[in-house]
Parts: sequence; C-alpha cells; structure tokens
Amino acid sequence: MSVLSSTTEEAIALEEQYGAHNYHPLPVVLEKGRGVYVWDVEGKKYYDFLSAYSAVNQGHCHPKIISALTEQAHTLTLTSRAFYNDMLGKFEKYATETFHFDRLLPMNTGAEAVETALKICRKWAYEKKGIPENEAQVIVCENNFHGRTTTIISFSNDPVARENFGPYTQGFIKIPYDNLEALQEVLEADNNIAGFLVEPIQGEAGVYVPSDKYLKSAKTLCEEHNVLFIADEVQTGVARTGRLLATCGNCSCTDKHCSATPEVKPDILILGKALSGGAYPVSAVLADNPVMGVIRPGNHGSTFGGNPLAAAVGMAALQVVKDEKLAQNAYVLGEIFRNELEKFITSCALVKEVRGKGLLNAIVINDTEDSSTAWDICMALKENGLLAKPTHGNIIRFAPPLVITEKQLRDCISIITDTLRAFVQNTP
Ligand SMILES: *Cc1c(COP(=O)(O)O)cnc(C)c1O
Repeated sequence: MSVLSSTTEEAIALEEQYGAHNYHPLPVVLEKGRGVYVWDVEGKKYYDFLSAYSAVNQGHCHPKIISALTEQAHTLTLTSRAFYNDMLGKFEKYATETFHFDRLLPMNTGAEAVETALKICRKWAYEKKGIPENEAQVIVCENNFHGRTTTIISFSNDPVARENFGPYTQGFIKIPYDNLEALQEVLEADNNIAGFLVEPIQGEAGVYVPSDKYLKSAKTLCEEHNVLFIADEVQTGVARTGRLLATCGNCSCTDKHCSATPEVKPDILILGKALSGGAYPVSAVLADNPVMGVIRPGNHGSTFGGNPLAAAVGMAALQVVKDEKLAQNAYVLGEIFRNELEKFITSCALVKEVRGKGLLNAIVINDTEDSSTAWDICMALKENGLLAKPTHGNIIRFAPPLVITEKQLRDCISIITDTLRAFVQNTP
C-alpha cells in the first residue's frame, strides 16, 4: 500500500483496523476542498451539504482564512495564557463588538464552550443570585445536543450517547423543547434555577425550528425569575440561519432580515464551529460584565484556548462573514431552497416535510425512524455528487457552505429532487 496516495477502500480499511469506531461515516474519502466543493481520493467532485456540521460556513479553505492561518503559523502559534499574546485582545475586541457583548472567554471546541458557560452560570448563581451552595439547577431541553463531555451527556436523552457512561453529573432539569408552559412551571416551582440552556434551532435532533415567539418569551420568563438565558449557537450561529445569530438580539450586522425582527440577546452566548470557518478549533463564550465578572484568575482555563493562531483565524473568519454578506446569502437562498423543495414534495410521497431557517434545513423521510431509507437516499445523493448525512433516523439535514451561489444551489436542488424521484421509481 502506498503511503502517498490511497484508494477509498484502502483509506477506509486503515480506519477500520486502527481507529476507534466512534463514528459511522458515509463511505467517501475526501482529500481536497474548495468553497462548496470537496473531492474524494479518486478525484470525484461533490457538493458538500453538511459543511462539517456547519463549521465550514465560509466554504472550504477560504483563501483569506487560510492566509491568516499560515501567516500567523509562521509567526507565533502558542504561548499559553501564562503570558499575553498580541492577537488575543484584538480578537476579543473584534468579536465582542461584532456580537455586542462586554467580554469573551476563548476555548477550542463547542463542548468546552458549553462546559464553560455552565460553570459561569453556576458561579453567578451562587455569588450573585444567592442560591445555596451546590443547589443550583440548570434547565435544559429534551433532545438537546450540546457535545460529548461527561457533564453534557449527563443531561442528554440520547441512549446511545449516554449508556454506560455514568455516574452522571447532577443539577439539570429537562423540559420539552418549544414549550413555554413547561418552562414557566419549573421556573415557578423551583427557586434554585440558575440558567436555561437552549439551542435556538435543535440541529442534531433533526433541525427543529421552534415557534415564532418561543425564544423571546422564554427570555422574558427567564428575566422575570432572574435566570440566565444561555444560547448554544455553536451550530446556528455565524450566519447559518440567515442572520449573524439565530438569536440576533442586537448584533451589529446591518442585514435587514436581522434588524427587522430582532429576537433576544442571550445572557450567555456560546459559539464554535464556524467561528473559525473550519480551519482550526475555535470556540468562545460571550457575556456582559455582571455575568462574566464572576470569573477570576485560576477559576477556568485551557492551554490552547485563546492562542494567537486561533485568534488570527477567528478574526479572519468573522471578517469573511461580513465582507461576503453570508447571513444575507443564507437568508435569500434558504427561502429558494425551501420553496423549491416544498413544491417538489407535493408530488413525492417519499418526503413528508421540509423545514429549517436560512441554510440550515432538513427533509423528513416518510418511513419509520429505524428504517435505512434516509441512509440509502444519502448513498444515492453521493453517487450523484452531493454529500449529506441522515440525522436521527429518517431525517436528512441539508446545510451547504454559505458561500454557495444561487446557480449552484439550483443545481443542487435538481440533484436532490432527481435523486428522490429515481429513488421512488427504483424502490418496489
Ligand atoms: C457541534 C455542537 C456542539 C459541540 O461542538 P464540538 O466542537 O463538537 O465539541 C455543541 N452544541 C451544538 C449545538 C452543536 O451543534
């Protein structure tokens, strides 16, 4: 076997033999990416309709992000926070001005940022709200996805993610998503609630978009009970849903879709994934002084968090989102995508529903959750040059890089509808 180039079979065989089997990937081996396209080791070109779970919103290997990465990589990569570096402050200023928060705490992965937000929330609850020691509770939603750490899976209700990883972390109350009565009930019944952790759209669960007033009303309820509203925008943030943030309270973007219908400003905002455009792990927690002020030296940290390479990449990645008006593009193209697919599914019994916001969308396949239909459709899409992955059984998420053009999107709509049509014809 050559070490320089490998076939699909060879590459998969290596992972099968030497890797832990903690994923079940589609059998495609990618070796190159540019914009909305990726290429496999045989040179076949695909549209990427997953975007690494919305980490690659700016497109693969965006030249401005890669240039910031390589330039900084030649200059200084890591100092640890034992010393200052000349990039972190610039990134913090840029990101806090972009999202309108007083302060930012830098981490690396999404799960670490969620953990950070939970720690800040608990400390705030004891030191500012006056909850008795070790009594703080955080409300979370059923079918949430916030990452893979021991604490985070403790409040997941996905049996595959949880089973045999106990004992679990205490201090979480689970309520149904998009249910204000349930939230109000818990807030009124328990004086020890510190925070409410929520995804503005539940991505991993299958792109569940809550009802229009949900986020705003939930935030109001939290305010009435002096409870922190914590938005996990790791997947929905950074222009994915057609606005800079899905919660777009008073972010600084000038897109008319944002300013026309402001949502809420979270007390704690969690970002990751596209914060780096997929070039490097960069995540962050943002909050205003009364909340972030509870964190003092020694309370929290990370060797890599806030390193100069991450800071340079993060700044470039946000700059690209602004320069190329990616929120606006996601808004406009998202409308086209859903309209076209809605037209199509009226004549296709295989698909029950299309839903989403901006360019975070999904179709629900008309079959049981444990059927292989969604997987088989994704295999057919792959053959036809488009990569997507089922999420939760019979749901397929469609989330291309936001740099996609209308012409490319319409080409992809044709691939998707032709594939579904052929799939119906070829299935007895
Ligand atoms: C992906 C994701 C995370 C976890 O991010 P990692 O970088 O994989 O740790 C957390 N929350 C949401 C909503 C996500 O989509």
